[in-house]
Amino acid sequence: MCDMCGCAVGSGDVEVRSVDSRASHRHNTQALVEVLTRLLHQNDEAAAHNRAHFDRHGVVAVNLMSSPGSGKTSLLEATIDAMGHRYRIAVIEGDLETENDAQRIRAKGVPAVQVVTGQTCHLDAQMVHEALHTLDLNTIDLLFIENVGNLVCPAGFDLGQQANVVLLSVTEGDDKPAKYPVIFRTADLVLLSKADLLPVLDDFSPDAATAHVRRLANAAPIQTVSARQVDSLASWFEWLDGLLAARHTAEATTR
Ligand code: MG
Repeated sequence: MCDMCGCAVGSGDVEVRSVDSRASHRHNTQALVEVLTRLLHQNDEAAAHNRAHFDRHGVVAVNLMSSPGSGKTSLLEATIDAMGHRYRIAVIEGDLETENDAQRIRAKGVPAVQVVTGQTCHLDAQMVHEALHTLDLNTIDLLFIENVGNLVCPAGFDLGQQANVVLLSVTEGDDKPAKYPVIFRTADLVLLSKADLLPVLDDFSPDAATAHVRRLANAAPIQTVSARQVDSLASWFEWLDGLLAARHTAEATTR
């Protein structure tokens, strides 16, 4: 994938596949690790800066992560329909190409900034920061950051968000949390999405998916939802209400 985030290098688990020029590969790998360490440090600084923006303006920022096609944008459309009259919502969209998702959100009357990442397979804090400066944070209660569809790299980059939500659609394997543990460990909430398809699928078990998340020692709530069935989204809306209420409580106690 991208050459920005070190997809090819896992922490403490560097694999050099060529048997030729081993010394050269070790040297290159060391240099790469140093570059990546510096890059992640810079990202953490930018994320702290974003968090300060959110705190100053009382914005709740939620980072949505999943595979491509798991229904993130559809979930946001349904959420705007149901909650847009109560909260001032805005969206930052991350995709490799196109402005399609931002256009879908804008069609709902909600401000949306499209970040086109090109070769980069995740959003980083600096990209989010640049997007923030095109929004009026004084007019936003709830900011969704729809990350690039990818179950690997987005997990490594703090954006300054208050919460991580990871979607796993029922059209994917219920063992995805076992295969992609890092991102599912970061989840403050897991949504098993596209659940309207469950009756016609015999190879996805919500219980099995839940068990895989629990084996990662993540006790986050897990909800089975469908953007096409608004009744199934009640717990998701309540969870968002809870985040906003906690934000208001925190603000009241620091005044
Ligand atoms: Mg999308």
